Amino acid sequence: MLPSFFDSVLQLIIRTSTELPPDVRAAMKTAVRAEPAGTRSAQALNIIAENIDLASDGEGAICQDTGMPTFEVKTPVGANHMWMRQQIRGAVAEATRRGKLRPNSVDSITGENSGDNLGPGTPIVHFDQWERDDVEIKLILKGGGCENTNAQYSLPVELPHLGRADRTLDGVRKCILHAVWNAQGKGCAPGAVGVCIGGDRTSGYAHAKEQLFRTLDDVNPDLRLADVEASIMATVNDLEIGTMGFGGRVTLIGCKIGAINRLPASFFVSVAYDCWAFRRLGLVLNGATGAIDRWLYRDPSHPIIPMLDQSGFIRTGREIPLHSPLDEQAARALKVGDVVLVSGRIFTGRDAVHAHLMKHDPPVDLRGAVLYHCGPVVVKTGDTWRVTAAGPTTSIREEPYQGDIVKRYGVRAVIGKGGMGARTLAAMKDYGAVYLNAIGGAAQFYARAITRVDGVSLLEFGTPEAMWHLTVENFPAIVTMDAHGNSLHKDIEQESAAHLEAIGA
Ligand code: SF4
Repeated sequence: MLPSFFDSVLQLIIRTSTELPPDVRAAMKTAVRAEPAGTRSAQALNIIAENIDLASDGEGAICQDTGMPTFEVKTPVGANHMWMRQQIRGAVAEATRRGKLRPNSVDSITGENSGDNLGPGTPIVHFDQWERDDVEIKLILKGGGCENTNAQYSLPVELPHLGRADRTLDGVRKCILHAVWNAQGKGCAPGAVGVCIGGDRTSGYAHAKEQLFRTLDDVNPDLRLADVEASIMATVNDLEIGTMGFGGRVTLIGCKIGAINRLPASFFVSVAYDCWAFRRLGLVLNGATGAIDRWLYRDPSHPIIPMLDQSGFIRTGREIPLHSPLDEQAARALKVGDVVLVSGRIFTGRDAVHAHLMKHDPPVDLRGAVLYHCGPVVVKTGDTWRVTAAGPTTSIREEPYQGDIVKRYGVRAVIGKGGMGARTLAAMKDYGAVYLNAIGGAAQFYARAITRVDGVSLLEFGTPEAMWHLTVENFPAIVTMDAHGNSLHKDIEQESAAHLEAIGA
């Protein structure tokens, strides 16, 4: 067996979770420079850039959602795949124990979290063989927010704002534009897409995800596909969806397209959307020892150049301090576009907590509360809990519940990302509450705004789904839905739909 295999895989997981590959860093640096200073997108990008630096400096998870670990492994003929799979699973569990991966493996029927990222189907490990003596392992960590924005089209299809997409490369182009438009800020834009033309529904999605192992700056060897990639990248930013869907000049940082054969009756276009926290690294291991021969996508002999040459989130002096709990007057005084700095007690709550609150009284008094859509990474030392990563999760999943919870229990502010829908907006207007958009993926940045863990309720749902009682100080967010019926998300969706019609024509 390979004595260093386990340690090498563990290093791969830790690096992938904490360090963005150079091509993604370069693309994000270009994005930072593209947005005019002082705009919402520029402020969001500064927080993202600071977060990227904090994560690699402190070996903390870039985003609290460390995603579905997906390994692509190539081995010499005759290698023992069963043993390797066991080692990889062991390394995943160890990385989880060290707080580098969030426990993300949940029983699909009971909702129970296995606590170590192991379970039926998780992690995903694909093996292949090659005529070489060494072993290649590539890893991608793709989170739930962006995974939920994946899309699959069966052509020909009629697309809103774009008309008919035929079984042609132009039809493919329209599908990609539609998928990016539809994602808005919910997948933590700016993102990148891996696309597959063809296959069946299953192989199409798998091949689309494989495209995300290409570097953002490569050129497709198939010139027909290279043309479509270039055409998408030349036009897609005219959608002006911008970072986190705040509006802005950069919406997509990469488009990678592959094609596989299909049945004559089927023509699928599958789009795998990845967020800016595009975590992908790889290793080549010595075939006899399992020790690292070299890294893929990164060169450890080159020092990491910081994303920022100045401090990240720059205050303008116009930020509004908010102290939780809030009263109605404070909530109604806020308007879309205001930047707030939240201090005081906040409570986390995501899918399991929202479902619970529809049937049970809350475990804490939520009158005037700030509810944070967040599944943090928390580690326990002795009796003390510490949050090591705590960015927002995608709020739209709570749309069926949120309006009722705001009104029933008196919540005055919801922090999340990607915005919410008409029901929540109406409830906020009725009751006097606001939606505060935090910057998706900025897990290290926000973890530092949490000064104390005061307690936890509903821990039986697992650490990401529990309700954490946190004290925060100057936690920045942008009001994107206010108590006057205004929604930045609705506005950007409508404006970008007009751009989509122009680009797609
Ligand atoms: S950056 Fe956003 S979409 Fe990406 S994993 Fe984190 S929360 Fe999910």
